[in-house]
Amino acid sequence: MKNPPPVFPDIDPGDELICLGHEEDLADQGGALAPPIVQTSLFASPTLGDLHAGLGAEHLHHVYTRGQNPTVEAVEEKIARLERGEICKVFGSGMAAVSAVLLGLLRAGDHVLFVNQIYGPTLGLARHLERFGVEHDVTYDVETEAVAGALRDNTRLVWLESPSTMLFRMMDVPAVATLARERGILTAMDNSWSTPLFQKPLTRGVDLVVHSATKYLGGHSDLVAGAVAGSAELLERIFYDAFLLNGGILGPFDAWLLNRGIRTLPTRLRAHHAGGLEVASFLAQHPKVERVFHPGLDRQAEALVADQLAGFSSLFSFSLRTDRFAAVRAFVDRLRRFRIGVSWGGVESLVITPSKGDNDAFLAAQGIPRSTVRLSVGLESPALLIEDLDGALAGV
Ligand SMILES: *Cc1c(COP(=O)(O)O)cnc(C)c1O
Repeated sequence: MKNPPPVFPDIDPGDELICLGHEEDLADQGGALAPPIVQTSLFASPTLGDLHAGLGAEHLHHVYTRGQNPTVEAVEEKIARLERGEICKVFGSGMAAVSAVLLGLLRAGDHVLFVNQIYGPTLGLARHLERFGVEHDVTYDVETEAVAGALRDNTRLVWLESPSTMLFRMMDVPAVATLARERGILTAMDNSWSTPLFQKPLTRGVDLVVHSATKYLGGHSDLVAGAVAGSAELLERIFYDAFLLNGGILGPFDAWLLNRGIRTLPTRLRAHHAGGLEVASFLAQHPKVERVFHPGLDRQAEALVADQLAGFSSLFSFSLRTDRFAAVRAFVDRLRRFRIGVSWGGVESLVITPSKGDNDAFLAAQGIPRSTVRLSVGLESPALLIEDLDGALAGV
């Protein structure tokens, strides 16, 4: 079977200009084409009165780099524009962003509903919050009626991931956002997989978008960062109730690196989209492969994909036709062009398996086959990666 030709996704030309920096005001930075790195911990004020005014509204003034900093603001403005949010706040990691949303919006007695397969540490944080009286449930049934049935009187937040962690399962985001809004419940969505170039949840009724900017936004495996975007009102609450007090800042240099990564995001994502589809299509027709979990190859998700995604990133998984963990481990170890490691979204290809040989119950609860292998397809030529996979599959 011949591989399908690479399909190029639609990237909004305005978004491309935002990424490239056409919206940056060079006069503000002395004409420097690359933004300066304002590496300072504090900003001195001309008078004590100015300092007090700044401390009274720290989200709007440069007082102290645990609050605001110009280099950090430059990348925040970029992400806010791309997500169509009023405001974006960046954090020292994706988990700092997740924490700020949960800690900023919830109090004892509240309930959070997580919908779809969710990033593990996000659920780990939810379990931790039980000791502060915040309750939660997870529903893997993403049908809107099932989500409605899982809501409680004290549900304050619905947390979504689409495509989901590990199985990349789509869900009807606008339907669930509408359902929550009708009941006065806030929604937050982890959009790390799609990036704002391929999906803009805020335009579909979601209240807050969360990112691990460590992944595609940074894109070069050289920084850890997170972001939250949404309305000025919600972001102000998060700024004062969580960000400023928790102190999970992104330092100026890492903010600068993130801004630099975003400059090439459109180009990288076009290549990731095409390369990921080409590798996934190869695997889908391979006799040693049981199933491929990629939203672009999921017939049942066609309508949701057409409605919600402008393209595919290159993180997906597949299951091998074997039940033996030793065979999965040997397959991973045979690969030469995929580095073995956590994380994803960088220029180099990566491989990992959620299987540890002794965690079948954990996997089964989420419907994840024990022979699942996850790939992050980098910017290498797909032919090279396919050759490597073909060789390693021969031994399964
Ligand atoms: C990695 C990841 C996070 C956490 O981000 P960090 O930058 O590692 O803290 C959150 N959500 C998803 C889907 C992720 O893959």
